[in-house]
Amino acid sequence: MKSVTTFNLQYAHRFYGFCGEAQYLHGHTGIMTIEVEDSINEGVNMVFPCNEIKKTAWSVLKNFDHALILRQDDPLLPAILAVYEKQGIRDGAPTNTMRGYAFKTDLAMAYPKCRLVVTKETMTVEGMIKITYDLLKDKLNISKITFVSGDNTATEDFTVTGTIDRCPRCGIELDECGICPKCGYFK
Ligand SMILES: [Zn+2]
Ligand SMILES: [Zn+2]
Repeated sequence: MKSVTTFNLQYAHRFYGFCGEAQYLHGHTGIMTIEVEDSINEGVNMVFPCNEIKKTAWSVLKNFDHALILRQDDPLLPAILAVYEKQGIRDGAPTNTMRGYAFKTDLAMAYPKCRLVVTKETMTVEGMIKITYDLLKDKLNISKITFVSGDNTATEDFTVTGTIDRCPRCGIELDECGICPKCGYFK
């Protein structure tokens, strides 16, 4: 069975070097759907609580929300950083509080202080799915990710192997000692 969560990401990007309108800076509300597959956890009669999937995913993906996403070789990158620097917002601003934690993977690097994500590849809907799976594959049993942005949609299925030990009372993952971090249930 699957538990499915959907949420929005608002971002600006462009396809650097692409022969089309998308080579110009523009923005979207992207809709991300993450499907998590496992056995039914009998205690709570669910695969995984959807708000917990969202919480786990959002902790990293909020880096992409109200953010600028540019490819590492895009000449806009140094230009924008120079403006942020000059304006004094390169290393944060008092109103920039909804920040994710900084991450660095082979595919992307987040700079939450200035709401920027630098990617290795062009951030198409396909690219976003690759980045997302890479960030979350060790935290969630992801069987499918779909990303819709404007007229573009991409979807990918992933093979889930194994099951996650979950609390029979609140449904969340037990820690390495078999204890529920939320209610203290001990396996
Ligand atoms: Zn676009
Ligand atoms: Zn619990």
